[in-house]
Amino acid sequence: MSPIAENIIRIRETLPAEVRLVAVSKFHPAASIQEAYDAGQRLFGESRVQELLQKQQQLPDDIEWHFIGHLQRNKVKMIIPFVSLIHSIDSPRLLAEVNKEAACAGRVVDCLLQIHIAQEESKFGFTVGECEAFLTSGAWREYTSVRICGVMGMATFTDDERQIRAEFDTLKRFFDRMKRACFPEEDFFTEISMGMSDDWPLAVASGSSMVRVGSCIFGARIY
Ligand SMILES: *Cc1c(COP(=O)(O)O)cnc(C)c1O
Repeated sequence: MSPIAENIIRIRETLPAEVRLVAVSKFHPAASIQEAYDAGQRLFGESRVQELLQKQQQLPDDIEWHFIGHLQRNKVKMIIPFVSLIHSIDSPRLLAEVNKEAACAGRVVDCLLQIHIAQEESKFGFTVGECEAFLTSGAWREYTSVRICGVMGMATFTDDERQIRAEFDTLKRFFDRMKRACFPEEDFFTEISMGMSDDWPLAVASGSSMVRVGSCIFGARIY
């Protein structure tokens, strides 16, 4: 069995059945994705638009492609025809653009709101406060070609497990609060995308519904 297949099977064995595994294939060739596919993996995450378009054309049609990286508004249109979940909506303007292009394409596109939970500086992501204000304003309800299915976050890159746990717990509590306040009846607000190669077991313990794992499956990325 290939190392990629072995890694996928090993992670699947430890992951609770209800937690989905997004295999993050950015910077890895289509052949590596095919190996994972042959081991039964159908869900892949990419973070660059051009790379995603190329791979989508080369690889089987039943792959579910998730976009996980920073998305520029002028590139939204290119992924709308086939993307199945965008994890990285980091502003109301980006959500509006996705809504507009999804409407043009006659689709309803599933999205997650990216929340900045780490201590590190980052240009991307809503703060908890900004996201709460946006959701409680109800402004998003006019966007009928997107569905807000939950939240995504990344913990600080650190060895301090207590800090990582605290950040994941913050995201989980925020999700629960927004679910009660804004989506009490909606059956689609269900996703908490958190956990990467170094911290996915902690994320699962904190209530992740979807982990995004790259290097633990495909090996180190060569940039
Ligand atoms: C690259 C990336 C991942 C995967 O990172 P690994 O540490 O290789 O598992 C997960 N989420 C996002 C948003 C990424 O950009």
